[in-house]
Amino acid sequence: MIKDKVVIITGASSGIGEAAAKRLAGEGAKVVLGARREDRLKSIADEIVNGGGHAIHRALDVTSRSSNEDIVRLAMDAFGRVDAIFLNAGLMPSSPVSALKTDEWDRMVDVNIKGVLNGVAAVMPTFLKQKSGHILATSSVAGLKAYPGGAVYGGTKWFVRDFMEVLRMESAMEGTNIRTATIYPAAINTELLGTISDQQTADAMKGLYANFGISPDRIADVVAFALDMPEDTTVNEFTIGPARQP
Ligand code: NDP
Repeated sequence: MIKDKVVIITGASSGIGEAAAKRLAGEGAKVVLGARREDRLKSIADEIVNGGGHAIHRALDVTSRSSNEDIVRLAMDAFGRVDAIFLNAGLMPSSPVSALKTDEWDRMVDVNIKGVLNGVAAVMPTFLKQKSGHILATSSVAGLKAYPGGAVYGGTKWFVRDFMEVLRMESAMEGTNIRTATIYPAAINTELLGTISDQQTADAMKGLYANFGISPDRIADVVAFALDMPEDTTVNEFTIGPARQP
């Protein structure tokens, strides 16, 4: 049951996070939206609330541990519990290694890896106290399969895969009742390509997405599917993308 679940969503200001927020709120979840662009969060939350749903928001920078703690505190103060967190914030400034875009490498490590760790660290004490919780994360097909231009991005998403799988195993062994779900999307039409500064990579990606890209609503569907599972069941992994993308 999704109804009345309290779900924190990172990267909720656009794309997959926005789609998940609207979908879950539409099914009666109380969503807590985080990202840096607060104006975007506000208009998404207003739309949900005006439609009769429950949504609150807070500016969040996932690279800051205290910012992650703040959003968990906001959820607890507003709703008294947290049932799930969707660790979705990310960026993809892909480029060949030889371009040495070292600032972008750092940024991907900070947001895509440390952002996930910070989110888990912030919510875990609450989940352990509640003796239940659900952690969902957006990896990527780039975390499953290497491709030229995706060395650092793919590496960060591979990290998410490995971390989430170990978390699942440890949670089962420790009996903490914390479930995990990792999502591996292929080409989804969002604002993500805007983070690519390398012209050749950007052009190639734009062509791919123009040919194949599908709606972020499809990722929202699998987030809802995972959250809807009864407590004794975990859906661990979803690989999902355009039917026509090779
Ligand atoms: P968008 O660019 O639309 O969304 C990215 C989100 O991440 C935004 O809400 C952005 O919000 C947020 N974000 C970025 N940096 C930070 C930060 N430091 N702190 C908090 N939030 C941050 O792209 P998508 O919806 O596609 O991306 C969502 C996830 O899906 C990412 O992890 C991406 O890697 C993954 N993914 C996407 C695929 C695709 O084809 N679109 C394929 C595979 C995986 P703001 O700028 O307001 O902070």
